[in-house]
Amino acid sequence: MTEQAENNEAAEAPPQTITPGELDKITHYFAPCGRCGHFWVGYRVLAGEELQTAVQQTDDGWLRLAWRQGMRNLLLKSYGSRLDVDHLHFAGVCKECRRDFTFSREEEDASPRFMIRLLPV
Ligand SMILES: [Zn+2]
Repeated sequence: MTEQAENNEAAEAPPQTITPGELDKITHYFAPCGRCGHFWVGYRVLAGEELQTAVQQTDDGWLRLAWRQGMRNLLLKSYGSRLDVDHLHFAGVCKECRRDFTFSREEEDASPRFMIRLLPV
């Protein structure tokens, strides 16, 4: 590796973290709905200490959540949505508050991307 490449690497932005205040706000938005509240609490447990880097909030109103072991089961329990192992794309919606979420991946072996709306539409 050249010296310049090393410098570039060092200049890369650290993983985006979310503040505890922002996490509280998300909890506040998810809590009114029983299903979404259950999902969010469960996700916090799955992400554990990595929660602050696992959650990315963007200006488009979606939360991007890093995929974790156990999320398939969590989605089933929270929303009754059963994701099959071979799903490449799945879009679901909360039956109570209409908050929607999507799951996608490029191919079967790729790590899934999961997005859920911060507020129901
Ligand atoms: Zn909901």
